[in-house]
Amino acid sequence: MRPLPPSPLQRLDHPVATAAGVALYVKRDDHYAWAPHDPLQGNKVRKLAPLLNRTDLDGRTVVSFGGAFSNHVAALSAAGVRFGFRTRFYIRGEAVRNLTLDFVARNGSQLTFVDRTTYRQKHHPEVQREIGITADEIVVPEGGTQPSALPFVGAVYGETVKQLGRAPDYFCLSAGTGGTAAGVVAAASGGRTRVEVYPALRGNWMRSEIESWLPPGTDTGHLDVITGYAFGGYGKFPTDWRLYTPEGAIAKRADLGDQLLPPLEPVYTAKLFTGVLHRLARGEYPRGASLVILHSGGIY
Ligand SMILES: *Cc1c(COP(=O)(O)O)cnc(C)c1O
Repeated sequence: MRPLPPSPLQRLDHPVATAAGVALYVKRDDHYAWAPHDPLQGNKVRKLAPLLNRTDLDGRTVVSFGGAFSNHVAALSAAGVRFGFRTRFYIRGEAVRNLTLDFVARNGSQLTFVDRTTYRQKHHPEVQREIGITADEIVVPEGGTQPSALPFVGAVYGETVKQLGRAPDYFCLSAGTGGTAAGVVAAASGGRTRVEVYPALRGNWMRSEIESWLPPGTDTGHLDVITGYAFGGYGKFPTDWRLYTPEGAIAKRADLGDQLLPPLEPVYTAKLFTGVLHRLARGEYPRGASLVILHSGGIY
C-alpha cells in the first residue's frame, strides 16, 4: 500500500471556542484518502492498514461483516477495487437495499444477509465455517477493528502532535466499536492529553469496550467517555439536522445549520461536533486550553 501523507490539521475559529478562550482545531481525517469523496477514507483506511499492507492479496477474497449502512463495508469494498482483491460481506438482518449496499454491489462485492443471532456469533470459527467462509479467504473483523490495527489508528494522534508542535490538552473523537478510540488512547498514554470519546451508540459500556481492545494493564486514566450525545442510538439522529444527499454521495449529510463546520455525516461526526460545541458553550474546558476534534471521515 502506498502510504498517505498526514491529513490536514485546521484551526477552527468558531465563536463558541473564542468565547470559551479555547484554541479549537479539526484533524481532517475525512481527507485521509487516495481520492476525494472515496468511501475508503478516514479511520477506515487506518484500520485497514494491516490488511492493505499484506503482499499476498492478489486474487484473494477478503470477507467481512457489517450492518446495512456500514462505512467499513463500503470502505473495504472500495479497497478491493483499488487494490485488486475480491470482497464479500455478511450483512446483519433482512435483505435490504440502500445507497451504501448499492455502491458495494456495483463494486462487484458479494452480499449475504444473515439473521441477527448468527451475526452475533460471526467471529466464532465454527460459525464462520457454517456460513461458508473457507480457509483460503481472509477474514477482517467487523468495523476493521483488531489489535494489529491499533498502532496505525493511533498514528492520527502522533500526526496531530507534530502538526500542532505540542500535545493538545484535549483530543476528542467519536466511537462505534471503540477501536479508533483504543488506538488513540494507547498513542496518547503517558502524556498530557485527555482523550474524550463520544459514543455514537447508547449505553454505558464504551469504556470497558475500549479497554478490551488494549493490552491488559494499559493506563486509561487520561480517557473520558462522554455520554449523552448518542441522540437516540446508533444510526438515529434528530430530524432538525436537515439531512440531505449531495449529488453522487452514497449517504446523507447532516446539516447542523452552522456554516463554520466542515461537512459532517450524521452517524458519528455530527454527534461528536454537536457534543464538543455544546460542552465548549457550557464552559467545560479551562480557558487557554487547546482542543482537537478528530473528523474521522464518514460517507456523505
Ligand atoms: C467507523 C467510523 C467511526 C467509528 O470508529 P470505531 O473505531 O468503530 O469506533 C467513527 N467515525 C466515522 C466517520 C466512521 O466511519
